[in-house]
Amino acid sequence: MKITVIFDNYPYEEGLATDWGFSCLIQGAEKTILFDTGADGDILLSNMKKLGIEPKIVDTVFLSHEHWDHTGGLNAFLCGNPDCFIYLLESFSTSFEAKNYKKVNESMEICENIYSTGELGNQIKEQSLILKTDKGLVIITGCAHSGIINIIKKAKELFKQEIYLVMGGFHLAELSDAEIQEIINDFKCLGVKLVSPSHCSGDRTIELFHQCYGKDFIKLGVGKVIEITSSMTKCNALI
Ligand SMILES: [Zn+2]
Ligand SMILES: [Zn+2]
Repeated sequence: MKITVIFDNYPYEEGLATDWGFSCLIQGAEKTILFDTGADGDILLSNMKKLGIEPKIVDTVFLSHEHWDHTGGLNAFLCGNPDCFIYLLESFSTSFEAKNYKKVNESMEICENIYSTGELGNQIKEQSLILKTDKGLVIITGCAHSGIINIIKKAKELFKQEIYLVMGGFHLAELSDAEIQEIINDFKCLGVKLVSPSHCSGDRTIELFHQCYGKDFIKLGVGKVIEITSSMTKCNALI
């Protein structure tokens, strides 16, 4: 499977625009899935164009939660792909009800080997995406408002498999070094092999994960490509 970051507030590939928010494309499964849409449709579409990604190739949009920095690009994207199927949460407002959509409550299969955690969290409801790969589970989070550790535990509970990679927004920017360290220790205890925090994770969180995970830390940003095959995990080179 191949994951390409299309929208992020951190840069990676030169020539692509950064802005607050997150979106990535998942290819190589039965369905091509756009995870979130970033804050701004113009930036989303322009980054997609520069990355050679046609909106029409997307089968499914998966919206993690109803925050503007994850849903803001949706309408512009749908202009180029009006029939695209959208997975929303049960709690989303009716304005998100497009032509083809499903509201997610419990954990469910999106397509073979790709699942939603289901709606998690008490205040801000959110779903994360779980990919089953030959290397183990890959978890993609939008903002992780329901708690990054809770999300990892949920994935483990659902599939009883090792966690290979956790990537996306971890939402730990307000935490002290000691608190972040505690979370990193929990990651290690839960057996998370690779980490790739970005978006709302916080600069210091990213720094500390990098220090603790070393070569198993993957720097994320717009244009980053992570390819997971049965034999290897390949990334595009760092600028
Ligand atoms: Zn959010
Ligand atoms: Zn966010």
